[in-house]
Amino acid sequence: MKKGSRGKRKLTEEEVIQLRQLYIPYKVPVRQLAPKFGIGVSAARRYLNPTYYTQRREWRTINRVSTTVKGKRGSHKVEKRPKPQACEVCGKQDTRLNWHHWNDEHLEWGLWLCNYCHIGADFIDKRLDTYLQLRSQVEDNGHQYDPL
Ligand SMILES: [Zn+2]
Repeated sequence: MKKGSRGKRKLTEEEVIQLRQLYIPYKVPVRQLAPKFGIGVSAARRYLNPTYYTQRREWRTINRVSTTVKGKRGSHKVEKRPKPQACEVCGKQDTRLNWHHWNDEHLEWGLWLCNYCHIGADFIDKRLDTYLQLRSQVEDNGHQYDPL
């Protein structure tokens, strides 16, 4: 197993079954099992207990934001508004909601958005000016517009 790829490998369905069969009847510790499959311990736990991963992800969605703050990429604690049942922009229900923020100094300024609206919001925050500029260049000059 190459160094650096640990934990990033995904197991096939067959391997997951093998992993569970080894873990459950023989009580092999996860620490010993994980390297046999070329994955990290936390990845192995995820395969052994799917609800563990789901619960952890939900906790992170509610309590953390992954972004770059002061040049440091990472997971940051943040007090978010309570998570609603539906996307705050389009109202879509029964969908995964994520915290959209637009100011790294104020991670608590945010909206609960579905995936689709989140992509749109990021685009508007980061690229809208460029997009509108290119659009009007094409309208004014057709194929002769100045690429940026
Ligand atoms: Zn939405």
